[in-house]
Amino acid sequence: MPPFSAKSFSGRRRVLWLLIVFAATAICLGSIVAMMIYADAHDTVTAQNLVAHTQEVRLTLAAASEQLDRIELNAELYSYVGDKGHLGAAEQASVALDSLAARLKVLVVPTSEQEQETVQLQAAAATLALRVDGLKNHWYSVESDVVACRRILTVLQEQEGVLLEQRDAAARRENLNAMIRRAIVIVVGTILILVLFGFLIRDAVRSGHFEKRLSRTNDQLRNTVGRLEEQAFESRLLINARDEVSLSVDARQAEECTVRYFSELIPGTAGSLYVTNNSRQIMESVGSWGVVRASAPVEGFAPECCCALRSGRPRWRRPEQSVLHCTHFLGEPPERYLCLPVTAHGETLGVVTIECQSHEAITMTETREESAISLAEMAAMAISGLRLRERLELQSIRDGMTGVFNRSFMEVALDRELHRSARQQKELALMMVDIDHFKQFNDTFGHEAGDLVLRLVADSLRQGVRTEDIVCRFGGEEFVIILPEMTPDSAVERAEALRQQVKQLAPRFRGQPLRQVTISIGLALAPQNGEGAEELLRCADRAMYTAKHRGRNQVVQIDSGILA
Ligand code: GH3
Ligand code: MG
Ligand code: MG
Repeated sequence: MPPFSAKSFSGRRRVLWLLIVFAATAICLGSIVAMMIYADAHDTVTAQNLVAHTQEVRLTLAAASEQLDRIELNAELYSYVGDKGHLGAAEQASVALDSLAARLKVLVVPTSEQEQETVQLQAAAATLALRVDGLKNHWYSVESDVVACRRILTVLQEQEGVLLEQRDAAARRENLNAMIRRAIVIVVGTILILVLFGFLIRDAVRSGHFEKRLSRTNDQLRNTVGRLEEQAFESRLLINARDEVSLSVDARQAEECTVRYFSELIPGTAGSLYVTNNSRQIMESVGSWGVVRASAPVEGFAPECCCALRSGRPRWRRPEQSVLHCTHFLGEPPERYLCLPVTAHGETLGVVTIECQSHEAITMTETREESAISLAEMAAMAISGLRLRERLELQSIRDGMTGVFNRSFMEVALDRELHRSARQQKELALMMVDIDHFKQFNDTFGHEAGDLVLRLVADSLRQGVRTEDIVCRFGGEEFVIILPEMTPDSAVERAEALRQQVKQLAPRFRGQPLRQVTISIGLALAPQNGEGAEELLRCADRAMYTAKHRGRNQVVQIDSGILA
């Protein structure tokens, strides 16, 4: 659900309200227009009725006037001709005039001037009827009564004319008013509708803007959440990597762990971790992830081959950014790759190369570049620490020149092995080995040649014993070999074999052959010759010196104080 839904809801409620107001206004305006149409129709009908009434009054007046003409004409004809038919016609006309006068009284407005005139007309018509009746006896003339009636009819016609004009004027006024009212309603209605439409349009526009802002904000929020999730993932991964790398027992394990976490951090890529080989000063591959298309030579490469190692900074190689390639690839180098130097305490320990073979891989590597740099730094610190520890460990228990264990380690180891042998009731052999006339090597060929002979003899002794046997440098050109679980016969055999092996060495120094190397071996056995370390060492030493005295290049075993 978008975070601004409440606001959007209030916006929708506002539009709803506007629509309700709009509908109410439309209903009110419709009602007003309907009422006006009804009132106008009613007024029109009233006006038409009034006009029809006037027409009826005027027709009645005309009919009355016609009857008066007929009375006058027939009365005159009767008085000249004496035909009774004319008298009858006059009488009929008189009756008709009388009824027309009565009809007029009904038609005109009560208590008006016209009503008084109609009353007078009725009276005059009645008098005229008497006069017509009196014509039989030739008593009267009807002329004056006819004139009186005509005068009244003329007055009534004039009054009706005035009324008609008034009604006409009133109808025109009413028409004009109705038109004005309609115009006002139409104008007001249009303005109201326009205003409401204006509000609706403004709200629609605002709501459109708001929706856009809302969608922009939601997009930003989504991006932020995505970034945070991404950061959380990277942090979790780096924490796990740190924990695992710091738990590594040696540099090799730390390197394997680093490669595994690189593959998890930037999936879709391929890459390799190269570390310096201290003795050879070259970068050697110690692991890779993904399908590496352009690997380095198996024999390794010089640090100068990598641009990132030369600059001491992470380096992207992209066609649009740089044309220069590192030269540590076998064959065609990849188009896009990132090299991360692995350095700790200012010392270059190696380099990570990340190949980006797809668009997704590039995006992924660019996004997680910072974490990849952190991972490389973390790996560098761990590898550096572990290498230092290994070096210190080596220095503390091994002899620096020959690589075999040193004297202090021998003392501890001999003690431990004697105890173990005693516990398991097994025998243990101890050999004291001394190089014969070693001084001559130094004197003849120099100390470096002497050192070389020492290393060769040490290697030969190491190779000539079992894994569980312990070869130590006792001092100078003397070695001690501890051989647990060894019978006397086997010990003699082994010592003989060692002597023969050393004798076979053909040392060369700077291309020059040195003289043959031989050794004298003094052999002592526990528990036969002694149960303590010191005692046993002393016995072996004595046996070795016996061998020297007997002419060197031989094995002497001490047997309960008697030399064999
Ligand atoms: P022997 O047969 O009686 O044992 O004679 P040797 O010459 O082997 O014995 P000696 O004790 O007279 O001489 C040992 C020499 O070893 C003396 C010393 O200068 C030399 N030496 C001791 N340690 C080293 C080393 O680390 N390197 C070299 N080059 N020489 C060493
Ligand atoms: Mg010696
Ligand atoms: Mg010696």
